Amino acid sequence: MNGVGRRAGWRGCVLWLLLVGCGAGEGAAEPWMLSSPGSSDDGGTPGGGASTDGVADASDDAVLETGDGPVSDDDGDDSGGTDDGGVSDQWCVYMVTSAGDSDRLDVHTQPDATTMVVDTLETGESVWGGPTVVDGFRDLDHDMDLPRWAEAARLQNTGECVSIDDIPPAEVALPQGFQLPFDCGQPWRLDTWGHAPALDMVREPDQVGTNGATLRAPAAGVVNQSYYHDNAGNMVQIDHGDGWFTTFIHMQSRSVEVGDVLAQGDPIGAVGATGPTSNGHPHLHFELGMDADGDGQTTWGFEGAERVNPWFDGVEYGQSNAETWRDVVSNNCP
Ligand SMILES: [Zn+2]
Repeated sequence: MNGVGRRAGWRGCVLWLLLVGCGAGEGAAEPWMLSSPGSSDDGGTPGGGASTDGVADASDDAVLETGDGPVSDDDGDDSGGTDDGGVSDQWCVYMVTSAGDSDRLDVHTQPDATTMVVDTLETGESVWGGPTVVDGFRDLDHDMDLPRWAEAARLQNTGECVSIDDIPPAEVALPQGFQLPFDCGQPWRLDTWGHAPALDMVREPDQVGTNGATLRAPAAGVVNQSYYHDNAGNMVQIDHGDGWFTTFIHMQSRSVEVGDVLAQGDPIGAVGATGPTSNGHPHLHFELGMDADGDGQTTWGFEGAERVNPWFDGVEYGQSNAETWRDVVSNNCP
C-alpha cells in the first residue's frame, strides 16, 4: 500500500465500593499494589476528580459534514482518466507533485494555508483525497477524525478511486492509533483512582451493561498472555509490536489464546468481575504497557510495572490519580 494512508500521528484498583458500597474497605486496593512501596491506595474519591472531558472528537467532525455539495472536481484532467465528478463518495489516490521550489506539501487543519500544519507530504508520495475542494484545498480526511487539507493543485489524481467506505484504514502510529476496547459508539467512563496510569472502565450511563460487554482489540496484535490469575482473574495481554502491549484483567470470559493474531476490533472476551481484586464489581482494568527492558512482554498490575499513559483515538489518559473522564465514546469501528 505504498504509503497510501500514511499520516502523522498527532493525533489506571478500584474503589467501586465507594460508589456502590460493595466489598470490604481497604480490600479495594489490589494486593499487588499494597505490596508496592508507597502505593497505599489513596482512594479515588469518586466524583472528586476533576472531570476532564476526554471526549475530544466531536469538534472534528464538522469539516466533512459541511459537505456543502462536494465541489465536484475536474478530474477531467490528464491524470488517469477517471471521472469522479459528481460522485460524492468517491475518494482517489493522489500523487504529490513538485511545486518547483519545494518537494514538500504541507497538510493543514483547514482549507487555509495559514492554519496549523499537521503533516507534510513529499513529492511522489501517495495520499487518499476526497471529492471536496474548498478554496483550492482538497479534503484528505477520510477517517473523518482529524481535519486534513492540502493544496489541490499539488495533488494529481492517479485514477485509483473507490467509495469512501472501501478505503483501507489509515495507519496511525501507536500509541495514538489505539482505540477503546469496546463496541463502536459505546460511551465509557475512565478512572485512574489510585493507580494511574492504569484505568478502570465502566459503561455509561450508570454502569449499565458493563458486565458482559464485549472487549475488542484496541489495535492489531498477537495475544501473548491469556490465563486466570489468582488475584486479577481472567487476564489477556496483547503484543502490538514495537514494544507496545495492552493488558486486560477481571474479564468475565476470554475468547482468545496465546498466539492468536488479532485485527483491531476483534473480540477478545467480555468485561467482568473475576479475581478477588475486582471486589466483585464489574469493570475493566486496563493498562497500556511499553516493554522498557525488552524482554518481549510488559509487567502489569503494580506500581512500577512497565505501564504508561494509555491513548485512545489520539487522546492521552491516565496522567494522574483520581482523574475521571466521562462519556468517552469508542471509535473502535469497523
Ligand atoms: Zn483497576
